[in-house]
Parts: sequence; structure tokens; C-alpha cells
Amino acid sequence: MAEKAIIIGAGFSGLSAASVLAKEGLQVKVFEKNRLPGGRARKLEEDGFLFDMGPSWYWLPDVFERFFHLFGKSASDYYKLVRLDPSYRVFYSKDEIVDVPAGRENVTELFESIEKGSGKKLAKFLDEAEYKYRVGVNQLVYKPARSLFEFVQWDVFKGIFRLHLLKSFHSYVRKNFKDPRIWPLLEFPVIFLGATPKRTPALYSLMNHADIGLGTWYPMGGMFEVVKGFVKLAESLGVEFHYDSPVEKIVTSGNRVTGVTVNGVFYEADYIIGSADYHHIEQSLLPENKTNYTEKYWDSREMAPSSLMYYLGLNKKFQKMIHHNLMFDQDFEVHATELFEKQQWPSNPLLYTSVTSKTDPLVAPDSMENLVVLIPVAPGLEDGESVRDKYYGLVMDRLEKLTGESVRDHVVFKRSYAHNDFSSDYNAYKGNAYGLGNTLMQTAIFKPKLHSSKLKNMVYAGQLTTPGPGVPPTIISGQVAAGEIIKMIRK
Ligand SMILES: Cc1cc2nc3c(=O)[nH]c(=O)nc-3n(C[C@H](O)[C@H](O)[C@H](O)COP(=O)(O)OP(=O)(O)OC[C@H]3O[C@@H](n4cnc5c(N)ncnc54)[C@H](O)[C@@H]3O)c2cc1C
Repeated sequence: MAEKAIIIGAGFSGLSAASVLAKEGLQVKVFEKNRLPGGRARKLEEDGFLFDMGPSWYWLPDVFERFFHLFGKSASDYYKLVRLDPSYRVFYSKDEIVDVPAGRENVTELFESIEKGSGKKLAKFLDEAEYKYRVGVNQLVYKPARSLFEFVQWDVFKGIFRLHLLKSFHSYVRKNFKDPRIWPLLEFPVIFLGATPKRTPALYSLMNHADIGLGTWYPMGGMFEVVKGFVKLAESLGVEFHYDSPVEKIVTSGNRVTGVTVNGVFYEADYIIGSADYHHIEQSLLPENKTNYTEKYWDSREMAPSSLMYYLGLNKKFQKMIHHNLMFDQDFEVHATELFEKQQWPSNPLLYTSVTSKTDPLVAPDSMENLVVLIPVAPGLEDGESVRDKYYGLVMDRLEKLTGESVRDHVVFKRSYAHNDFSSDYNAYKGNAYGLGNTLMQTAIFKPKLHSSKLKNMVYAGQLTTPGPGVPPTIISGQVAAGEIIKMIRK
């Protein structure tokens, strides 16, 4: 009889874990509370518009490829990737707009045009970033981060100082580049996904290698095509998906889990992977004496930002916006302080917009555009219609000013999304979008543990455990969690 595994949640971490376990011969059931798989990477489809609800930057294509290779497949068996060039557009003001091109040499030229002599510095900066990426992503993050011993065994331990774990990202960037227009170009990946650059170790410049070295890609049809690819692979390996099926309780006996209840029915399991938000699994599904962490622990964590988003359908084509746009016309430091330190609604936030219809004709009706606007906001804020209306007005004013085009009069579809939706859709702690901030004390072995310390046959996966937030890290998280179960079985 095959051993039975239950996975809670069909986000990227749950989907990747499901295929790895099914390939090993386990009978795998995935229970997902929502109608669709993908978790934060679901799609919203209405009135002929298709929106990526969450992730829109397809970075680190090698991580996706490495996953599919485990099954003798490639990403191209499931979806078509195109490399974006320019990668993105930066609006410093109405009159100063810069396109960041694809390819390291082209970006070097751009830096040189902004600050004389910065091209050479960028080359060194990116070489260091590539080293961190090679060591960090290719070797370290595929380990379960159970102990420091993993670092000791690690063949590049001797190069640990080159990882810049103790240097701040903020000062690292400023030491190398003097023109303030360059700073946000290098810092936006950490601020959008993690913590203030001052509190982020310079290790995370590996994200700049991801951006500039490896490129920004787009799966035609949108990010949900990637989700569909993961589901198709899992189903081909025999995984059973149950949608509209929220797990209500994890049942335990002594130091083992025995199954879950869903819609009042008990399903037996030899192993469970909790890939929904870690805090929810522990605080809502497990008995109090079986959790790894207390509510007090969670309250002491530094969360990554949440997001206030607008999904907008427009009955016109934009002249000025391209696929990815970063509106850096406001003070970066002020927004970062409001986001991470003061934890208040931002006064004049930075904005990110994506218009995938610029690349993909199938995601909006003819002559129309699908516009997603994202404002990074602090987690745990009081969300509601009036605050969303206020920021909608601010967004419209800013976009019209920066692009010189009318926007609000062309909106024919509108939906907003923020903390309350993250909480009700994903059981997200404090309505978080991307889990924990990438500070040093929340990196690797300092993150919430993959293994349960009380339940021998239960592991966690997803953006709140190792290696962290982002689609590629959560794919890795699912792989590693499944690998830990396979180790238990083979023991
Ligand atoms: C707005 C936004 C933009 C982002 N942009 C990017 C980007 O551009 N690039 C990038 O790489 N990453 C991006 N990310 C991050 C990335 O999307 C996430 O890190 C990743 O998708 C999280 O996957 P996960 O499996 O950990 O969690 P989730 O995707 O949240 O999956 C967990 C699943 O568990 C389900 N669940 C919860 N409770 C239960 C229960 N009781 N029973 C059953 N199921 C349950 C949830 O419904 C959900 O489907 C973005 C995220 C957001 C929110």
C-alpha cells in the first residue's frame, strides 16, 4: 500500500511538493480552500480582461527549469516564455523616464549614462551578486536550514565573507554608486519583497543578479499559465486535487499527525505538508500544544509589506506605460520609513504598475489594456473602502501626471485588493502579501522551521519558512519539504 500524503494549500509551494511526493510513489491529496489553484498567483478574469492577481515578475527561470527537469520536463512543455526588453520602465518624473534594457552590457551603458564611471562599478557589483546567487540559490537554499552545520559542510564556507551577511544593502549600494537615481534601481527588489534596505543584508544583492543578469521574463497567457503547468504535471503523476476544500483541523495522536478534517470529513494521512500560511496552520489548525511557535513569537516577527492593488480594465491603449513600470517620483526613504518603521499608510508612495496586454494580446479585449497598480503598504493596517477610495484618487492623479494621459475616464472595470482580501482569501497573518521581511535575523536557520518539533511526520512549506517569499523560493520550499518526507520514508 502506498503511503498517503496530504498537502494543505495549492500555492506554488504545495504544487511543487505534490509532484515530488507523487513521483516517489506516494498517494497525494491536495486540499485547497479556494476554487482555483495557485494561491497568491491566482488569476482574475472578468469582462474580457485577465489579471495576474499576485506575482507578475517571472525571475530566476533556472529555478523553474530545475524543477521541471526533476520530471524529465521543461517549462516549454507547459508554457511559452518571452524575455522582456526593456525589462521595465522607471518614471523619476514626468520628464525623466528611463528604460532598463535587457542584458548586462546594455544596463552597464545605462548606468554609465546616469553616473560616469558607474559601469565599471556595476560590473564588480554584479560579479559579487552572481557569486552570492551561485552559492545562495544553487547550493544553500536547497537545504532544509535545520542547523548551522549545513553551512559548515558547505564547500564554499571559506567564501562566507563574500556573501556580505553583515553588511547592509543600503550602505553597500551607496558605497558603490553616488547618483540617487541609481539607488532605487538596485533597491526596489528588496523593498518590494522584503524589508528596508538598511535592515537587509547585502547578501540580497543576489536579486540584482536575478534582475540584470538573468532577466525579466513573461509566460504568455500570464502567470496562471505557470500554475496550470504545475497542476498538469502533478495530475499526470496521480495527484488528486480538492478545491473549495478548506482544511478545518489537523488531527494528531501523540507525536504524530493522523489526518485532516475537511468539510467535516476525516482524511487519513501518513505525512502532512502544511503549505498554507505557517501562522494559520499553527494557530488555527493544530492543537495549541503541537505548535512550533506562539502567537507572541509571530507578533515579534518583521513582516514584509502587504499590498494595496487595483485591477483595472481600460478602454484605450496607453502611450507611455510599458509591461512593467516603476513610479519612483517620490522619496524612497520616506515610503520605506512609513512602510517598515512607522507602519502607517504611506503619504506619497512609490507605485508599481503592470500592463501585460502590452506583451500579450489575449489578456485584454482589442484596443484595451489590463492595468494592475500595486502600492507596497505596511501589514496589519486597518483596511476598508474609504482608504481604498482615497488611494485610488491618489493613484489616478499620479498616473495622469506622470504619463500626461487621461486614465480615470477610461476605466471600464475596477476591483481593489488589500489586507482584508489577503486574510479572507489566504488566511494571511496581518493580511501579509509576501510573508516575512528578509532581515538577517529572519534568514536561513533563523526563519520559522520547515520541520515540526512536536510532530514527527509533519513539515511546513511556503513563503513563511525557508528559503522565503517569491515564486522561485516557494517552489524550492515545496521541493525541500517533500525531500524531507522522502528522507523519513527511506530511513
Ligand atoms: C501582490 C503580490 C505580488 C507578488 N509579486 C511577485 C513577483 O512578481 N514575483 C515573484 O516571484 N513573487 C511574487 N510574489 C510572491 C509570491 O507570489 C509568493 O511568495 C508565492 O506565490 C507564495 O506561495 P505559497 O505556496 O507559499 O503560498 P500561497 O500562494 O499563499 O498558497 C497557499 C495556499 O494555501 C491555501 N490555504 C490557506 N488556508 C487553507 C486551509 N485551511 N485549507 C486549505 N487551503 C488553505 C490558500 O488559499 C493558498 O492557495 C507576489 C506576491 C503577491 C501577493
